[in-house]
Amino acid sequence: MSKRLKSASVLNKFMADYYYELDEASKTKSKKIAWCTSVGPAELLRALGFLVYFPETHSAMIGASKTAADFIPNANAIGFSPDICSYLTSDIGACLAGVSPLEKAYKTIKSPPAPDILVFNTNQCRDVQDWFCWYGRKYNVPVIGINTYNCVTDVTDSHIPSIALQIKDLIKPLEAVAGVKLDFDFLKQTMLLSMKCSALWEEVLNSAATIPSPLSFFDSVTLMGAAVVGRGTDAANLCYQKLIKELHQKIKNNEGCVPDEKFRIYWDGMPVWGRLRSYSELFENLKACIVASTYCNSWIFKDFDIDKPFESMARVYVSLFITRSEEYKEKYIKDMAKFFKADGIIYHDAKTCPNNSNCRYGMPQRIEKDTGLPFITINGDLNDLRLVSDEQTKTKIEAFVEQLEDRKA
Ligand code: SF4
Repeated sequence: MSKRLKSASVLNKFMADYYYELDEASKTKSKKIAWCTSVGPAELLRALGFLVYFPETHSAMIGASKTAADFIPNANAIGFSPDICSYLTSDIGACLAGVSPLEKAYKTIKSPPAPDILVFNTNQCRDVQDWFCWYGRKYNVPVIGINTYNCVTDVTDSHIPSIALQIKDLIKPLEAVAGVKLDFDFLKQTMLLSMKCSALWEEVLNSAATIPSPLSFFDSVTLMGAAVVGRGTDAANLCYQKLIKELHQKIKNNEGCVPDEKFRIYWDGMPVWGRLRSYSELFENLKACIVASTYCNSWIFKDFDIDKPFESMARVYVSLFITRSEEYKEKYIKDMAKFFKADGIIYHDAKTCPNNSNCRYGMPQRIEKDTGLPFITINGDLNDLRLVSDEQTKTKIEAFVEQLEDRKA
């Protein structure tokens, strides 16, 4: 786990500062707060002076605290199906219960910050729109957003104008709430910082291509917090510069995060937040390192262009892995498995997130046929631990690593 990396404490401090600043602004009304989906137009919001809060990180905290099942029934009781996104149901359920994991983590913070406006992008799924609309009704504040494409193979010029226009259309309602006019120079600066954050985060993740790998998926899912909530800020970039230094040193010392690393595995899909520690230990005992994942790489955005801010934002938001077709994803996973020198692939079929589960239309079988890389699918969920069978998962993973061992022999 990430505590093996000293710079994890720098990232933890970053997250603490981030939540304290939001909490202060929420209590004192000193700054406007915009809620944003994880790949929503954060750069635009920052450029308008908003503090930006991402509810998905709050949901991930609920998942990691293993309390999601306590709250999901509250959301079910008001009409949200148990089959939809458990980020949504656990977050709304926790709100209905008046409970937040922020209190345990940060003592003086009792709840997420109240929004002045909520801004979604459906590039990842429709659930985020419904999720934000519920809070919009609760707080009686505007909910605006971008509706985008999905199942895109090649992102072409024809995809861009309509999304760029939708982003431009956000400016007026945002200015009305922010009480300021958009400063284009500040927007460009924010985009530059975001690009830098993305490049640094990519460098962090790519260090795992080294044998032995200095970090694993179980480190990255916690280290990625700054890339998710802090892109567009200097503070996030400073954290990653420190982390990269440490990773370089580990590479120089030939120090892997899994002692005696023997197997390298690629992970598709979301983490099971409530099982980070136990899975990390399980793989470590098997001398297997989960070197990379589709999930953590989703916060690498390469297409920002400050001379075309809206068009390039549109391109970034439609190029996201989750919005792409099976054909694109298949090639991407094959390329990544090769780059990270993976011996096999694990697909997490997350029951309540079909959008992040890529094993439902024959992709694992096609990739195995083309590359010879063995795979397993584990059934589980991001937050709802009632959908996770620990024994079955353990048995499957142990058998998979045995299979990898046989292949090596
Ligand atoms: S992508 Fe999945 S986990 Fe994320 S908000 Fe949408 S349904 Fe939930």
